[in-house]
Amino acid sequence: MATGKKDIRALTKDDLREFFVKQGDKAFRGNQVYEWLWQKSAHTFKDMTNVSKETRQMLEDNFVINHIEVDTMQRSKDGTVKNAVRLHDGLIVESVLIPTATRTTACVSSQVGCSLDCKFCATARLKRMRNLNPDEIYDQVVSIDKESRLYHNRPLSNIVFMGMGEPLMNYNNVIKAIDKITSPEGLGMSAKRITVSTSGVPKMIKKMADDEVKFNLAVSLHSAIDDVRTSIMPFNETFPLVDLKEALEYWYDKTQRTISYEYVVWKGINDTQKDIDAFVKFCKYVPCKVNIIEYNPIDDGQFQQATNVALENYINTLEKNRIVVNVRRSRGKDIDAACGQLANKS
Ligand code: SAH
Repeated sequence: MATGKKDIRALTKDDLREFFVKQGDKAFRGNQVYEWLWQKSAHTFKDMTNVSKETRQMLEDNFVINHIEVDTMQRSKDGTVKNAVRLHDGLIVESVLIPTATRTTACVSSQVGCSLDCKFCATARLKRMRNLNPDEIYDQVVSIDKESRLYHNRPLSNIVFMGMGEPLMNYNNVIKAIDKITSPEGLGMSAKRITVSTSGVPKMIKKMADDEVKFNLAVSLHSAIDDVRTSIMPFNETFPLVDLKEALEYWYDKTQRTISYEYVVWKGINDTQKDIDAFVKFCKYVPCKVNIIEYNPIDDGQFQQATNVALENYINTLEKNRIVVNVRRSRGKDIDAACGQLANKS
């Protein structure tokens, strides 16, 4: 789609207002078009029925609307829905709708592929191809919201940035997308219902605290011992746990908001008492809660879910130390939609 025309959704509302004034029209026309683009998710200029035909043509001559398209949609036996989303340049990312009794959660992608190299994650194998634009992130949420209404008769209640990519390596665009998602001119969702999950980029965690963001923070920890963590998440060499700890303390000082740790327990990797003790110690640095995630095998057997005994040991020790712990059962495994399985296979 190399038309040479500019993507109109790269324009802010003020840009649009200014554009119309320059065209000899009213600034207000910019508001109308903006509303079509964001609140009403118009895919074509023809949809903009309260704008004159001539204006629509003029927009057509000057701009394109780069919209994502749901390329394939798969529905799991458990109600999970996975979208393979085609971007304007043909690349594909995935997003997932996860329904439970009380919530419907969208799990969205922030990059095509991923900047990081976690050994247990299918997305890491794709490498990072590019960052998603704010509108590409926003559109994933809009699509999932529509599917939630269609298949589960309720709007989306929560959003997690736990799809493909490392959100803090695409920080500016993620923030712009969240601004749009929370704005009354977008979806009007509360930031409290949004969680950004990171592998732990200390500098960016501090920046988020400085920016006084209102959404929640989750950190994929998986080990509180540097050697172990580096062996499964090699970037830990560059961002060691001591820096992560400092950044999390900074976050808590500034925001007073509890952090969630995502944690998978693997056989022979992080299932000993030493691993548990290190984790409990880490959990005491700042108020937190723990989500133990079930491992979703991605192929070669290097990583295997730990035994139930090891899991119980983790849970009991955490609880004894008064740390809130949830065990997250995997959803959508039959359609490769579970954590770490997003790799554009279908
Ligand atoms: N890059 C971000 C967000 C994407 S990953 C982050 O690391 O937080 C979303 C979650 O799935 C992370 O907690 C990640 O560690 C976990 N995950 C990755 N591969 C997995 C797998 N095969 N099984 C279970 N969880 C996995």
